[in-house]
Amino acid sequence: KLNERVDIDGNDEIGQLSRAYNFMSTKLSHIEKQRKDFVANVSHELKTPLSSMKLLAESLIMQPSNNISIYHEFLEDIDSEIDRLNEIIESLLSMVDLDEEKLNLNYKLTYVNYLIEKVVNNIRPLAEKKNIKIIISQWEKIQIFIDQGKIYQALMNIIYNAVKYTDDGGKITINIEKEGRYAVIKVTDTGYGIPKESLPYIFDRFYRVDSARSRKTGGTGLGLSISHQIISLHQGTIEVESEVKKGSTFIVRLPMDVNKH
Ligand code: ADP
Repeated sequence: KLNERVDIDGNDEIGQLSRAYNFMSTKLSHIEKQRKDFVANVSHELKTPLSSMKLLAESLIMQPSNNISIYHEFLEDIDSEIDRLNEIIESLLSMVDLDEEKLNLNYKLTYVNYLIEKVVNNIRPLAEKKNIKIIISQWEKIQIFIDQGKIYQALMNIIYNAVKYTDDGGKITINIEKEGRYAVIKVTDTGYGIPKESLPYIFDRFYRVDSARSRKTGGTGLGLSISHQIISLHQGTIEVESEVKKGSTFIVRLPMDVNKH
């Protein structure tokens, strides 16, 4: 049974054994709790769009069959709920992949600048729709060994968030520079910012500051945890500085001396 403790004081072997046992037992119950929370979260996330679809379908069944315009409207709603389910499942799948790919990153010598350019090009149409400017303020050319697809995804999540959580007319500034043995990428936005009490949880799976708003903007609460996982796999770090109503800065540090072929 988990959670069980054996409390024996003293520095003899039995005392040491009991402390080691308690340590393992605490750790195991922690892992078990995380697993349960995860399953509960996934179920909840999947159930929400399913419940909406069920309601929409039931109302459609009750409609008189000549009311074509209602049919159309409800089917569109069902269609967007299906998109949402797909988005959640895609995120879950890439998370599972990451768990399994620990030792299996496809390292290639890459210009970080090239990846940033690719992300910015793909996101620009969306930013333009909101009249948000994306500015590259510092642009040091840096070449490092990374898994291109993975780091692309990690940076995409961060820059996409910057666009999502910034009001129309805002500004996103990207900075690439060397700092000691690290390539440092900074993404600063003039958006909503993140409350201080939320900052410790921002990289947790399924965590959202404002779940109602995030659902509307199409969030799953998985993006940043995926970015964090990818960057950690590269032995890098990700940090955030933020002030509510002023904006946020995400700082990614990737070691330049990792040399994996
Ligand atoms: P989501 O899919 O909800 O965007 P993420 O894991 O990418 O999930 O982000 C977690 C939460 O962190 C978001 O729901 C949002 O509340 C907050 N967040 C992330 N990036 C920013 C940002 N640039 N500005 C303000 N809030 C942000």
